[in-house]
Amino acid sequence: MFSLNSNYLKLKAGYLFPEIARRVQAFLDTHPEAVTDLIRCGIGDVTEPLPLAAREAMHEAIEELGQPATFRGYGPEQGYDFLRKLITQHDYAARGVSIAEDEIFISDGSKCDGANILDILGTQNQIAVMDPVYPVYVDTNVMRGRSSDAREDGSYEGITYLECTPENAFVPEIPKEKVDIIYLCYPNNPTGTVASHAALSAWVEYARRHQSLILFDAAYEAFIQDPNIPHSIYEIPGARECAIELRSFSKKAGFTGVRCAFTVVPKELMGITSAGTQRSLHPFWLRRMTTSFNGVSYITQRGAAALYIPQGKAEVETLIHHYMGNATILRDALLASHHTVYGGTNAPYLWIKSPQGETSWQTFDRMLDHHHIVVTPGSGFGKAGEGYFRISAFNSRKKVLEVAQRLSHS
Ligand SMILES: *Cc1c(COP(=O)(O)O)cnc(C)c1O
Repeated sequence: MFSLNSNYLKLKAGYLFPEIARRVQAFLDTHPEAVTDLIRCGIGDVTEPLPLAAREAMHEAIEELGQPATFRGYGPEQGYDFLRKLITQHDYAARGVSIAEDEIFISDGSKCDGANILDILGTQNQIAVMDPVYPVYVDTNVMRGRSSDAREDGSYEGITYLECTPENAFVPEIPKEKVDIIYLCYPNNPTGTVASHAALSAWVEYARRHQSLILFDAAYEAFIQDPNIPHSIYEIPGARECAIELRSFSKKAGFTGVRCAFTVVPKELMGITSAGTQRSLHPFWLRRMTTSFNGVSYITQRGAAALYIPQGKAEVETLIHHYMGNATILRDALLASHHTVYGGTNAPYLWIKSPQGETSWQTFDRMLDHHHIVVTPGSGFGKAGEGYFRISAFNSRKKVLEVAQRLSHS
């Protein structure tokens, strides 16, 4: 009989969101009157519709594909030049960062890129993740055999967890042992916190000293409001030699269903082969993309490109303004009801201390019971998330105002 990748058996059965769904259903079964006023604040998905500029550009692209003279079939696997050029200009050159067009790889999502990048990295690398963490980083490594079995608390033997707490302002301390690959996500999901230039510089310095690789997930960079916070890891000198950056149009422009993202792989970035020679990662990723991927649809890339024209930019700004306005309302309401709140000023997530020594799940149950509000228990994102809960600003203004109202009666 053929064999299976048994590493999949090490994965903890998707626990967090199924357990939330189970508890919400059990509550609604016994409180059917709550069906109409239940508000979900656990969502990691956008709620507002696509910018008109993107929709118009996609309509036009469809018409182009309907004419013999302008029809297009397979496009470049790494993405069309028109989009890569706009990215280098608007996302990087405008912030004083020099990225070449051929260092940009357009994809169908950062989730896929984060998983696929493991294809070009050796299996013996020691992986480090932040705790609490976006579970995809961990699970994709487990699936590829880079860990032992799960422990009782859901963490994995063989993966280094870097605690993020108020004491370190949710930026992990530089580890004492050497790690080869470090996942950093700023602005952060789930904590909604950001990393300063100095904090990122310390990590770049560490990575260069140990010849480690930083996988920098900047999916939420568009939500940064503070002008002093870096949007890209490449704003830190030396990062081109040690970092890959993941960016996505998902949260920034409502593209979670459209699917478009990109990865930056600088040509200076070197790794070591099994023969002990140093090689640039760039040709590896190019080969991986051209062999295993046939590019993002022309229509989607035209939609993404429209986000860089003035109308598209203005619409993205309006979206960000909406979500960050929600975050401010939620933050103020939480502070007014005597909660300790982190995040929510440069990211669409708020990370809140559970009151009076409650566990994350106890807070979840109480919020559901008393307020008919669904939050996300922090312990679902890792051991260091215990005693916290997450509220998302991805919602309509109406619902956010209602949540604020309910919290003020707590
Ligand atoms: C939503 C999100 C992404 C974006 O993923 P896509 O596949 O591009 O939709 C990436 N990283 C984090 C931490 C996220 O929360």
